[in-house]
Amino acid sequence: MDFALFCTRVDILLLLIALCSPCKFIQSPMDFGPLNFHQTTNTSSLDFGRIVFDSPTAVLRPHSPREISLLLSSLSASSSFNKVTVAARGAGHSIHGQAQALDGIVIEMDSLPSAISIHRGGESGSSYADVGGGALWIELLRESLKFGLAPRSWTDYLYLSVGGTLSNGGISGQTFKHGPQISNVLQLDVVTGKGEQVTCSSTESSELFFAALGGLGQFGIITRARILLQDAPQKVKWVRAFYDDFETFTEDQELLVSMPDAVDYVEGFIVLNEHSLHSSSVAFPSHLRFTPEFHGKGRYRVYYCIEFAIHDHQVESTDVERVATQLLRKMSHIPSHFYSVEVSYFDFLNRVRMEEAILRSRALWEVPHPWLNMFVPKSGIGEFKDLLLDNISPTDFEGLVLIYPLLRDKWDANSSAVLPDGGGRAEEQVMYIVGVLRSANPATCAAQCLQDLLRRHRRVAQAATAPRIGAKQYLARHPSQGHWQDHFGRHWDRFVARKAQFDPLGILAPGQGIFPRTH
Ligand code: FAD
Repeated sequence: MDFALFCTRVDILLLLIALCSPCKFIQSPMDFGPLNFHQTTNTSSLDFGRIVFDSPTAVLRPHSPREISLLLSSLSASSSFNKVTVAARGAGHSIHGQAQALDGIVIEMDSLPSAISIHRGGESGSSYADVGGGALWIELLRESLKFGLAPRSWTDYLYLSVGGTLSNGGISGQTFKHGPQISNVLQLDVVTGKGEQVTCSSTESSELFFAALGGLGQFGIITRARILLQDAPQKVKWVRAFYDDFETFTEDQELLVSMPDAVDYVEGFIVLNEHSLHSSSVAFPSHLRFTPEFHGKGRYRVYYCIEFAIHDHQVESTDVERVATQLLRKMSHIPSHFYSVEVSYFDFLNRVRMEEAILRSRALWEVPHPWLNMFVPKSGIGEFKDLLLDNISPTDFEGLVLIYPLLRDKWDANSSAVLPDGGGRAEEQVMYIVGVLRSANPATCAAQCLQDLLRRHRRVAQAATAPRIGAKQYLARHPSQGHWQDHFGRHWDRFVARKAQFDPLGILAPGQGIFPRTH
């Protein structure tokens, strides 16, 4: 379509919008030229958390980045829309309404073309994929595997959008080795809050590149990302080892992450009760002969499980067994309490999908999820674990508590992601991610109970972010700008300056609750 005609149509649309009431600025669903607005969709006020349900006034399902650019440039240019905000919605797997826009416009990113192109590197360069910001990681995995390649860094769950996880961090058991997903991006296409379409990288428009990575959607909408790929293994040796002592558990985790040449993946979780043992064991049940005693010696006991994996391309397939055995010999788990399976690389990466199917079959997937995720310095991890266990009741806990180490030098300090301050001590190179991934089954935990859980998590987060532990929340929605300022700490001024540069009117990502819309 002719660009001038296109712009005229947008102008007319905006005129129509201006004629409507200030809040409900689009009265009914309409298909207006290339900008297809809908009044709402089933998903636009819904996310995985099921705690916040803010409805937009309109939903845009764009067919190209240019439509996003036209919308944002029109909104920034006209004073008639000084209340209108815009949120990109990837897969909507936020917990606290971060991809929602109360009375604003939600852009559903899955409508963008989903073509993925794969480039195999030779001696001259790395392999990479160009992928749309609204594509899901599972789609990228499927496409890249056709070329024997795969991204290096993952999240545990793959039905999340590329733009959504790159706006946060994107972490999993590979992060100790390759860094988070935001450390594995070569280039981005971003539409800024002013509507500019910019291609950026660490050397080209680098301020926008680093701002957008971990930037909580505040600076622009990621419409394409160039993701680093590596050769994909065929198979994965997946091992679990159990502990009854927290210090031994973390020492062994740190031992494993100190051996990136041998190990490809390290995670771990607290075994709070029978349920948490089995809800995280889809690939293992037939091997699990671990029947821990939770009520020993007059007090409740919890256990810990390390999970690590070795890819078969690291070493010859026949050697994988030998490497795993050598590693296990160096570890101090409960003697004989380790289990291993060999699975395809695809099934390993897609393991949470199997959990999802089970939870869906029990009507336990589409329930509220009061999650708490924290980065905790190594020096505070023991105290944090005690704080956490003081605040959860193991007997009725439904879900999983993940704990595993990450290495600070795998994160680029220029990105917008927030980590605990290192304190300048060498040991603080190690920090932990702790994820309290809790489900609140409405049958047993109704509205008041959910509020109690959220209050308890706030209490834990407040105590853990105090200087004594020095933790930082991940994926949080803080209640006020003052809280956000505390969260960003010494990086707040940089975050504010980036906002002023790329989205000065505060149009983008209102669901994060960081900046108000300005005129
Ligand atoms: P959305 O919820 O749609 O959006 C999140 C934020 O990003 C919003 O502010 C939105 O406006 C913004 N945004 C979305 N798309 C774009 C874009 N293209 N450009 C700019 N801004 C955008 N995280 C991990 O790090 N590791 C894990 O292992 C992990 N596992 C998870 C498992 C489950 C079951 C769930 C529900 C979440 C998990 N997460 C994990 C958290 C997840 O990474 C974040 O919630 C992420 O935001 C989800 O992506 P999404 O596409 O659903 O984002």
